[in-house]
Amino acid sequence: MANEKLMFDVIVCGGGTSGTAAAVAAARTGAKTLLIERLGALGGQMNVFGPPGFSYAHLFSPCGEQVIAGFAQEMHSRLLKENHAVPHSDADNVYRKGTGYTFSFVDPEWWGLEIFQVLEEAGVTLLLHTLVVDVTKDGDKVTGVVVENAAGRSEIGAKIVIDCTGEGDIAVRAGCDYELLPREQNEPHSVCFTMDGVDWDEFMTYMKENPDDFELRGPIGMSKEEKIENLRKVNDPTEIGEVMGFFSILDKLLKTGEWHAYSGMGFFMAPRPDGGKNGVIQAHFQHSAQVPNLWSCDPWDLTKGEIECRKQIIIAAKAFKKYVPGFKNAYIVKVGTEMRLRDGRRIMGDYKLRGADVVAGARFYDCIGKSAFPAGAVHTADNHTLGSVVQEGEVGGMAPNGGSYDIPYRCLVPLKVENFLVGGKHVSTDRAAYLRFLQETVVTGQAAGAAAGLCVKKGVTPRELEKEEHVKDLQDFLRTQGVILEGVN
Ligand SMILES: Cc1cc2nc3c(=O)[nH]c(=O)nc-3n(C[C@H](O)[C@H](O)[C@H](O)COP(=O)(O)OP(=O)(O)OC[C@H]3O[C@@H](n4cnc5c(N)ncnc54)[C@H](O)[C@@H]3O)c2cc1C
Repeated sequence: MANEKLMFDVIVCGGGTSGTAAAVAAARTGAKTLLIERLGALGGQMNVFGPPGFSYAHLFSPCGEQVIAGFAQEMHSRLLKENHAVPHSDADNVYRKGTGYTFSFVDPEWWGLEIFQVLEEAGVTLLLHTLVVDVTKDGDKVTGVVVENAAGRSEIGAKIVIDCTGEGDIAVRAGCDYELLPREQNEPHSVCFTMDGVDWDEFMTYMKENPDDFELRGPIGMSKEEKIENLRKVNDPTEIGEVMGFFSILDKLLKTGEWHAYSGMGFFMAPRPDGGKNGVIQAHFQHSAQVPNLWSCDPWDLTKGEIECRKQIIIAAKAFKKYVPGFKNAYIVKVGTEMRLRDGRRIMGDYKLRGADVVAGARFYDCIGKSAFPAGAVHTADNHTLGSVVQEGEVGGMAPNGGSYDIPYRCLVPLKVENFLVGGKHVSTDRAAYLRFLQETVVTGQAAGAAAGLCVKKGVTPRELEKEEHVKDLQDFLRTQGVILEGVN
C-alpha cells in the first residue's frame, strides 16, 4: 500500500469534537498534519452520533463571563455568518440567565459540512474510512501509527501522535496508564434521536400551565415562584433549551408499562436550519434511550446496549406522540449512527485534574483553556436521569462565585510514553472533574494540536514543553487562536 512510506509531523487519531480542533491547531503552527478517522464523516458526538441539541453549551460561566472561545467560537461565528447558528443567548435569556447553562446553538449538519472546508483551509491531510489499530514505538517513544482500511494494514510515521478517539484506545496500545471504573459504576451510554413536526405553541402552553410537571431552571437561591414567572415570560422555546420532567405523564406511563425503567422524560431544543427563531425547532433526545452497566471496552456489552437502545427509542417516541401535547404529529428524523459512550478510560498524565481543583477555581501556570462546568455531574440510568455520584474521596461542585477553573497542559501529556498527547474526553482527571463535556473536548483538542505542532517546531518532546519557558509559547499561540486563558472569576 502507498501509505507505507508516509511520514507526517503530527498524526491525530479520531476526527470528532476534539480531533478536528486538534488537527486545525497543529496545521496552523505549520506542522504537516494528518487526521485519521474510522468513518467517512467528521464531528463525532457533534453531529454523527448526536446531533447535540446542547452545542455549544456552557461557553459562559454562571457569572456570565465567556470562558471558552477558541475553535468553538470560531465555528460558531463562521456558521452564524451563514445563518446556521443562533447568537449566544445568556444576557437576554429570562429563563436560564445566571445558571451558566448557556446555549450557543449551531446547526450540527452544517457544522459537519463546514468542518471539511475549515480543515482544507488549514492544510490538514485527511485519511477517512481508516481505523487506527496500534502505534509503532522505539523504546518509550511513539514513532507513528498502524492503520487498517480497505487497502489492508500499514504504518504511517509521525513525530507526534495525538489520541482523540474519545476512548483512549490508541493511548492504551501505546502503553499509557489509565483509570476505568467498574462496569456497574459507569454512566449509562445512549443512542440519540431527533424528532421534528412538533407544535411548539401547543407544547409551550402545556409547559407554562403545568410548571409543577417540570424541572425548572434558575440560579442557585431563586424561588420556585420566580422560576415559574420567568418560564411564563418565554416566547421562543429555544430560550428554555432543555426540558426535563413530565412527572405526571411519567408516573402514569410507568404504571401502564408504556415507559421504560432507564430514564426520565425530556429533550433538548435543536433549532435549525436557519437560525431557529424563524426556522424549525426540533426536539433532540439524548437520554431517553440509555443503558447502564456497559463497559466502554467490551464490544459484547456495547452490542447489547445498541439493541436495547433501539427498543427504548420506539417506546419513547410512541409515548411522546401519544401523551405529550404538541407531539401528536411529531416523527423521528434522525437516529444517531451508534451508541456513544459517556464513561470510559481516563488516560493518566503528568497532572490529574481533581474535583477539588474545580471547586477551588484552581489556576495553573500551564493553563491551556478554561471550563466552568461543575465537578461530579453524572447521568444515572433510572427515571431521574440526572444525578451526582462522587466517588469516595472525590469532591464535586462548582467553581467559587459562579466562576471558572484552569485546565493544565500537563493533563494532556500521558505518563511514561513520549511523543504522544491526548485530547478530548479521556484527558487526565479524576472521575469528578471528568473533562468529557463537548466544549471542554474542543479546548483540550485544540491545545493538544497546538502543543504537538510547537513541539515539532522547537524540537522538544511534549513533556519538555511543560517547562515554563516553552509553555508560554504554547499559551501565546493559543491566544492568537482566540483561546481564553485568563478570567475575572
Ligand atoms: C449520549 C451523550 C450525550 C452527551 N451529552 C452532552 C451534553 O449534553 N453536553 C455536553 O457538553 N456534552 C455531552 N456529551 C459529551 C460530549 O459530547 C463527548 O464526550 C465529546 O464530544 C467527546 O469528544 P471526543 O472528541 O473525545 O470524542 P468523539 O466526538 O466521540 O470523537 C471520537 C472520534 O474518533 C473516531 N475514532 C474512534 N476510534 C478510532 C480509531 N481507532 N481510529 C480512527 N478513528 C477513531 C470516532 O469515529 C469519532 O469520530 C454527551 C456524550 C454522549 C455520548
